[in-house]
Amino acid sequence: MHDNGHPLIETRAVSAGYGTRPVLRDLDLEVRPGEVVALLGPNGAGKTTTLRVLAGELAPMSGELRWLGAPGRAPLHRRAREGLAYVGERAVFSGLDTTDNLRVGRVRTDQALSLFPELEKRLRIGAGMLSGGEQQMLALARALGRAPRLLLADELSLGLAPLVVDRLLRVVREAADQGLGALLVEQHVRKVLGIADRVYVLRRGRVEMAGTPAELRADLDALESSYLTKNPAS
Ligand code: ATP
Repeated sequence: MHDNGHPLIETRAVSAGYGTRPVLRDLDLEVRPGEVVALLGPNGAGKTTTLRVLAGELAPMSGELRWLGAPGRAPLHRRAREGLAYVGERAVFSGLDTTDNLRVGRVRTDQALSLFPELEKRLRIGAGMLSGGEQQMLALARALGRAPRLLLADELSLGLAPLVVDRLLRVVREAADQGLGALLVEQHVRKVLGIADRVYVLRRGRVEMAGTPAELRADLDALESSYLTKNPAS
């Protein structure tokens, strides 16, 4: 880990939600340089909402959010300029080909190909015609190609074959080994625990458990059978 002692992003007692109803309550979490952090929990626990708050898409109702050490409510485009990459749903422009998706993301093709050489023969294919795995490789290449400090990714591996999931997670791990901080919402619990340094488990908008994969592994079977999505292939 490249932990320099300062979180890239942190929340203290953050509540957030839609309208007047908080979905997240008293959320304390942080991501530091060089670490991969997994954010797990059942459907509706508030994982996507957490990422949207961290990204600056959704303002906290109360509590404090610090990005790069400073409190504030910078919107996503400003955090993006300062090194925050957010890979949400529909992360590629399906009407543009691979090259143009990279261009719009201001990522050089050679940088993207150094991460995912398999995209080379797909450069002139419309992103909507790529396989699900290739689309996520493109999305991740676009996010990582600009050398962000922090990656927030929402179910990168949803619906993908196990080997592709491994491929995507390995690239995130390698980027973290170079200093990136990453927060990954993942359904492939065991796979993400294989690369994560720390884990938060959310339930009903609160952090129910936090620790290292080793600390949580003992609870994993209980976790999976009680409420995490099971993935028999992982
Ligand atoms: P999933 O795995 O199903 O995506 P999640 O843990 O990511 O779940 P969220 O998507 O953050 O959970 O949703 C948490 C709660 O907030 C849910 O009850 C959901 O119905 C509600 N919610 C999410 N988005 C909105 C929205 N735009 N407007 C109102 N309520 C919303």
